[in-house]
Amino acid sequence: MSIDERQLQSLHGQAVEWRRHLHRHPELSFKETNTSAMIADLLESWGLEVRRGVAGTGVVAKLTGGLPGRTVALRADIDALPIQDAKDVEYASEVPGVMHACGHDGHTAELLAVAKHYSMNRERTAGTRVFLFQPGEEVLPGGAIGMIADGALDGVDVVYGVHLWTPLPCGTIATRPGPLMAEPDEFEIELRGSGGHGGLPHEARDALVAGAHLAVALQTVVSRNVDPLEAAVLSIGQFRAGTARNVIADSCRLSGTVRSFTPEVREVVRGRMDDIIRHNSALHRVDYTFEFYEGYPPVVNDPSEAARVLRVAAEVHTDGEVRECERIMAGEDFSYYLKERPGCFFFVGAGRADGSSAPHHHPGFDIDETALRHAIRLLVAVADDAASDLQ
Ligand SMILES: [Zn+2]
Ligand SMILES: [Zn+2]
Repeated sequence: MSIDERQLQSLHGQAVEWRRHLHRHPELSFKETNTSAMIADLLESWGLEVRRGVAGTGVVAKLTGGLPGRTVALRADIDALPIQDAKDVEYASEVPGVMHACGHDGHTAELLAVAKHYSMNRERTAGTRVFLFQPGEEVLPGGAIGMIADGALDGVDVVYGVHLWTPLPCGTIATRPGPLMAEPDEFEIELRGSGGHGGLPHEARDALVAGAHLAVALQTVVSRNVDPLEAAVLSIGQFRAGTARNVIADSCRLSGTVRSFTPEVREVVRGRMDDIIRHNSALHRVDYTFEFYEGYPPVVNDPSEAARVLRVAAEVHTDGEVRECERIMAGEDFSYYLKERPGCFFFVGAGRADGSSAPHHHPGFDIDETALRHAIRLLVAVADDAASDLQ
């Protein structure tokens, strides 16, 4: 049962309104109280069976159709980021320093529209739909673990998730079988020397110079130690040292992220980081601490579910492009659902055709809202296809 064009148009209009409301009122990870109340109230008003407070601020809703079929879970993440919205649009964030800069407002809105569609077509629906509105995707260890522990996947046969994606032009749908998104690990390094007078460096142990050498030395891990046919990233995002022009810094903190697709590559990177930090600290006579926080596992799509998404997308997404994409170095805690059940995570392009859209997590981030329409149509078509697949 594909979605009726007039119904789709009306659902899209409502999804845009919900998305803009959420965009104006973003809430940080695990603090999505009003967001989750809005979600649960709407779902209840449509007659779904709703569980509030799953994994804190998550919502799980269920709808059993009138025809036999499998149980299909669809997931949206609902949290925003600690970023000041810099857009000049009427739906810009009204919360200082908080912004939906990853499109999770759109994920929430499109999944609400999908739930509403099923509530209006319950008797014609095969199988059961489970709607997962997950908190805290943006902070480790992520909300998916708590959702699963709270029974979000109980009775579920297959699970799908979407990310609206501005690096892809609006109109494009993409995914791939196997590894899709990376393991996003994080690290924190602190170097401690001994401060002193800027004019008397011989009496101090300069942590800033040690840190500067370290920042450069760490760049050799990926370029010199990781097999060039494997993928890895080591990015230092923060470097903090010093208090005044004429004072030698007594400490220096570097923090950043490591991305890879396999435990083996992760261990090569972590091991070499450890060696380099230790030897660099000895060279510059500073003490150190090195913390490495393992992030989400990689997102690995079930090959036959990825094939299903690509096939169904080619059938229903006739006004756009459907393609298999490359792996992406961003991470996603959707990986936890895929460790428990077969399923597929896919991208719905939400960027400008000329590639000028702000990247995800940028203060100017925005989506092309037509993408919501593509996502609603595809989620319904994929869920229906999977629910009726009784082989
Ligand atoms: Zn994000
Ligand atoms: Zn995201």
